[in-house]
Amino acid sequence: MKNVLKGVGILLGIFIGILVFNTLRIGGGGDKIESADLKPVHIQQAVDRLSDGLKIPTISQMNSGEIDYTHFVSFNAFLRREYPNVFTRLDVHTINTHSLLFKWSGQDETKLPILLMAHMDVVPIDQQSLDQWTHPPFDGTTDSTTVWGRGAMDDKGSLFAIMESVSHLIETGFTPKQTIYIAFGHDEEIGGTQGAKFSADYFKSKGITFDFVLDEGGGISKELGMGLDKQVAFVAVSEKGYVTLELVAKGAGGHSSMPGKETTIGILATAISKLQANPLPAQLDGPIKHMLNAMAPEMGFIPRMVMANQWIFGGLLDGILSENPSGNAMVRTTTAPTIISAGVKDNVIPAQAKAMVNFRIIPGDTPESVIQMVRDIIDDERIEVRQPEGGFGREPAPVSDPNSDQFNFLSYKIQEVFPGTVVVPGVSPGGTDTKHFVDLSPNIFRFSPIETQEGDLKRIHGIDERISISAFEKGIQFYIHLIESLGKDQKL
Ligand SMILES: [Zn+2]
Repeated sequence: MKNVLKGVGILLGIFIGILVFNTLRIGGGGDKIESADLKPVHIQQAVDRLSDGLKIPTISQMNSGEIDYTHFVSFNAFLRREYPNVFTRLDVHTINTHSLLFKWSGQDETKLPILLMAHMDVVPIDQQSLDQWTHPPFDGTTDSTTVWGRGAMDDKGSLFAIMESVSHLIETGFTPKQTIYIAFGHDEEIGGTQGAKFSADYFKSKGITFDFVLDEGGGISKELGMGLDKQVAFVAVSEKGYVTLELVAKGAGGHSSMPGKETTIGILATAISKLQANPLPAQLDGPIKHMLNAMAPEMGFIPRMVMANQWIFGGLLDGILSENPSGNAMVRTTTAPTIISAGVKDNVIPAQAKAMVNFRIIPGDTPESVIQMVRDIIDDERIEVRQPEGGFGREPAPVSDPNSDQFNFLSYKIQEVFPGTVVVPGVSPGGTDTKHFVDLSPNIFRFSPIETQEGDLKRIHGIDERISISAFEKGIQFYIHLIESLGKDQKL
């Protein structure tokens, strides 16, 4: 008995030893990176231009017939008027009438160019919520700390920060080492098929590819949580795919006075319940692994131990991450029933009941694998699982390598401009214009250099969208610093 206990004791000791060893192996805290010497910018002038830009309601509507393109014409004219040096110094192409493409030729023609992106369109205002806005969404109101309005964060804040940075650098007589392209799409919010897609086709026709692409995406925030008490810059190295499936239950309809044991509505409801009760599996091995690896060294000992020992704590980690909707969306293909329809009369059992379920697909899954998993979970041949007519499936974007020189360069620049920030690669839950550029560069990063404050993220597409003037200023300084650093030898 004593020997058994001794044996157990030794095994336990080894087990704890491995846990601690793994934990210490990933260390604590990152390297110190010196902060950059940021250039002063004419912030009041920049704020005025952003504010005026927010007054132009470049709204994308799902129904393209409802889009008022005169506002896009005004917005283009406004940019030309406000940034004459950018429009003269850079080559400018108008793409499909409303999108813009700039080329700023660099000194070194042998280096692949980079591409900076942003979009000029915004989402509509929910008219029912209009009276909840502190300032009307298209007034471009500014006060001493903040610029208010639809698009302030998504994505005119970045668009104007790019324009300000380029204009500033031209004023100082600067020429970049590496060629820079800039693409502003006009329909990102409705898929980018008229803007970004056309720009991508233009590049393809010219055989132009990119060292890296930087478009909107994760910001800089303290709201990531997960036990990380630091500011985090979330750089998405992929974005989720998309598929909507239709579930159809067919059966005997008839009068409701003598119903069978099961009705089409009951069968469909059971299928949906099964989907809700059985989330698709977490993908802890894909990009999420890079994310956890980046976060782990910054965490306290216990969470670090959980991260470092996924061989034993994988299930626990999945549980912790899946607890809230945003963590859940990061680790798995999400399941969201969005439409249900059946029945026409209260005393008639419908012969058919239908539901739509939307899935956002994590890298590692595909639209086809999702359909198969859904069929397996429902496991009821009376339910037909199919893609609705006219529906489309989109694969998740290829994963850009977070260990590449390009990622390291971007990460370094972020830490120089935002000292103390932990750069975390991840997957964007929503789509961006970069979906049209996946063939044009292996290094596509989705990151907005905008420091957000509490609640800012839910104001995007919501009520009281706004940007703080200090965050906007830092955004301009970020793009200046990034452009100045291109092509410079730098230890990474
Ligand atoms: Zn956007």
